[in-house]
Amino acid sequence: MIRIALKFACVLSAGLFAGQVAAYSTKTCLGERLKWGSNSKQLRASTTSFPAGTWRNTLQGTIDRFNLNPSRFTYSLGTTGSVRRGNGTSEVWGSTDTGLLAGAPARAFQYWTCYWFFGNHVSLDEVDVVFDYRSPWQWASSEAKGNVTGYGGGTDGRPMRSTGLHEIGHGLILNHENRWYNIMGTDFTHLHANGGMARAYFGADGSAAAVFLYGARSPARRDLGVVHWRYDGTSGEYSRHRKTRLFNTSGAVLASFDDAGETRFRVNRGQQVRAEFTYENMGSQAQNNVPVGFYISSNDLVTTADRRIGGGSLSISAGGHFTAEVTLTIPANLDANRNYWLGVIVDENDAIAEVVEWNNATYLPIRTN
Ligand SMILES: [Zn+2]
Repeated sequence: MIRIALKFACVLSAGLFAGQVAAYSTKTCLGERLKWGSNSKQLRASTTSFPAGTWRNTLQGTIDRFNLNPSRFTYSLGTTGSVRRGNGTSEVWGSTDTGLLAGAPARAFQYWTCYWFFGNHVSLDEVDVVFDYRSPWQWASSEAKGNVTGYGGGTDGRPMRSTGLHEIGHGLILNHENRWYNIMGTDFTHLHANGGMARAYFGADGSAAAVFLYGARSPARRDLGVVHWRYDGTSGEYSRHRKTRLFNTSGAVLASFDDAGETRFRVNRGQQVRAEFTYENMGSQAQNNVPVGFYISSNDLVTTADRRIGGGSLSISAGGHFTAEVTLTIPANLDANRNYWLGVIVDENDAIAEVVEWNNATYLPIRTN
């Protein structure tokens, strides 16, 4: 079933934001939504694949991250000594069975009941998540940027948390989504970066789906975010994501070079540029007239202590997300031939009490000519 959720308009006085429709897709059976019978579900980690320590902690961190969503639904993590598909218990383990994994780095197996016999019998019964368990685990457990694919991390830099969030999204019976930036597309390019960290998160679209299925938590959770990733077409059932860009005022992407896994744009001092970012509302309520500031930072950690070069405001509905450009002027008195970071901060006066505050700022790396 395709559920069209909320339409929203947005305004940013420093530039132009286009409207967009947010949506996600879930499954129904005999006209009923497939969902868990209560607002919580325990996943049991195999003590063999996830012994106490780093990987168990990473799995717990994934669930903790999911539980920041604005719906009533939460996962918890238990453990088990034996795992099996179809045993009525929802489990998480690692496998080297290429037939089971079918070429995927991880898979979710869903089991439900759906029949009519003197009435509907519809229930979601089990979900098992299986990670590719080539020894050693070829995943990033750390969210430090240097360990993460997309930020210079190596072949084992796929974040376990982002893939885990995607798989437990399947645990909500969310389908793959290839029409916009979202966690049910390519998960390892659905990250928030500021300073030394590149963190996985469930995102606006997934959050809206969770609220659609389980209702909004009370009191309502608020959470705005901004990232330097954007939608860039489809890869089969998955959305493909790339880094956001810096343009000149004619709309041409500025020249750039790879700087330790990040894209660094060359700018002239005094030049007008258009800075592209993706804005998300991961709360369950619309947020209106939220201040947004743009900054120049001398390092990759963007804060309000940096040099402010412009600003405006945005309005965005619950579960809304959009990618847009804002016109800014690179200060003429920056040093020549030096690295800076063009930053953005949403809710820059920190007026909104948010469930997550670390996702309010991000950056585009730049180098002055
Ligand atoms: Zn998937």
